Amino acid sequence: MAKENCIISLQGVRKVFGNTAVVEDFNLDITKGEFVTFLGPSGCGKTTTLRMIAGFETPTEGKILLNGEDITKIPPYKRPINTVFQRYALFPHLDVYDNVAFGLKLKKIPYEKTDKNGNKITKLRHLTNEEIDKKVAKALKVVDLDELENRDISTLSGGQQQRVAIARAIVNEPEILLLDEPLGALDLKMRKEMQLELKEMHRKLGITFIYVTHDQEEALTMSDTIVIMKNGEIQQVGTPIDIYNEPVNAYVADFIGESNIYNATMVGKKQVRFLNHAFDCVDDFPLNEKVDVVVRPEDVILTKVNAESKEDLCGRIDTKIFKGVHYEYVIMVGKNEVTVQDTKERNIGDIVKIEIEPENIQIMKKEVTANIYTDAWINNKNQVMISEFPFEADVTQILPGSQIDEEGYLVGKDGKKYDLNDADVIAEVGLNDLGISDIEDEKCLSGVIVDTVYKGDHYQVMVRTEQDEEFIFETAYTWNVNDIVWITIPKEKIKLTLKGDIKKYVKED
Ligand code: ATP
Repeated sequence: MAKENCIISLQGVRKVFGNTAVVEDFNLDITKGEFVTFLGPSGCGKTTTLRMIAGFETPTEGKILLNGEDITKIPPYKRPINTVFQRYALFPHLDVYDNVAFGLKLKKIPYEKTDKNGNKITKLRHLTNEEIDKKVAKALKVVDLDELENRDISTLSGGQQQRVAIARAIVNEPEILLLDEPLGALDLKMRKEMQLELKEMHRKLGITFIYVTHDQEEALTMSDTIVIMKNGEIQQVGTPIDIYNEPVNAYVADFIGESNIYNATMVGKKQVRFLNHAFDCVDDFPLNEKVDVVVRPEDVILTKVNAESKEDLCGRIDTKIFKGVHYEYVIMVGKNEVTVQDTKERNIGDIVKIEIEPENIQIMKKEVTANIYTDAWINNKNQVMISEFPFEADVTQILPGSQIDEEGYLVGKDGKKYDLNDADVIAEVGLNDLGISDIEDEKCLSGVIVDTVYKGDHYQVMVRTEQDEEFIFETAYTWNVNDIVWITIPKEKIKLTLKGDIKKYVKED
């Protein structure tokens, strides 16, 4: 059920290109008049989702409702939706007025007429010049270009050209305006100005804006609601403040704003341990649960070290950058880095005391504590197949006390033989147990680095194989997204659990 006052509802939307799903299980209700931003790194499926809303792409699965009506299969021109693209696609040989009026001159509107028998009939007619004038003037006023209607497009700045593109999109009075990285081609200063202007246009027009960007600051500045995407899936939907203050996972925290992210453990009731120190916090998680912790740099308080107190958490200032209003320090606490914003000037090498208020420690359920492959299987060489690749594994762990005989069968303590060929297993590999190399090795499984998150003293990196299997590893080294790597797993590091009863695999003589 779509929520009340909902203009667009995406329900179970999925889009597959070739064999790859680029949008997956996408469920979202957008309210009339809302400014919604799809935010995520390049390639996460933002544009594809926007294009499905516009009607340029059809979902492979799921449906899209507009004001409660299914529009999934309706062509773009029949939807009350217009799009502004990054490349403005203006006509260089026409002036501002004609660029904006272009669509209107072709447009036909219905009108009622009485025929010679006195019956009312509906016919179509072009807009009059007067009507076009009025609409163009209104649109140009919204984008603040009313003085420039006779200017040639080529004489306009990038920002002005983008305004013409917006005027052209709103002149038809759409119910929804889609904006795909509309400020991407502008320089930073112009971008900032246009962000505020777009927000103002949104307020004046009162229509729904769906905006796509990979720039988190832009999303925070402009949106009522941000939809954070990763690999075609929604990670979190919320107001900018919610998403900034309460990210649901380390990915969101890392993507939205600068943050310190640490592996941590719950060590008591509302007590969490990281940086080798127990902090009070406001979230309650089960004792000993491994969690991720996020602390924003502006929430770390630096004070003078009290030589008396042994309990205090202290660190040494390692780097210092002046950022205008504040300094940004990196403090080393053992091997861990803590990034801190502080208005007071301090010196590199100073030892400082670190405090964090309980409510500023954001605790998140740990997303992954190991790589778990639930659809692995054993081949006829007693190797485990993960992502369609054979890894050497110790299959005797499936049956305690067993061994492999010369023919390759598993033999139990009682002498019973088992043929594990094709047996379904769950394979588990720790985050520190993968060997990753950037040197090509055709004997190894290869993949591409798709994500890396810094966690204080190490990175958590995700590799995706051609078969869409994910391998996550922790490392002290930096890897770049899009790097191709080769994966090895030591035989003894693959933990196997048989799915179902081992009796199924008894070898009949
Ligand atoms: P960007 O910010 O770089 O535009 P995005 O988040 O908007 O990225 P999409 O443009 O939606 O991402 O692309 C998602 C994935 O789908 C990418 O891997 C892209 O290569 C792929 N893709 C998009 N359109 C097609 C298509 N027509 N055919 C095949 N693959 C496509």
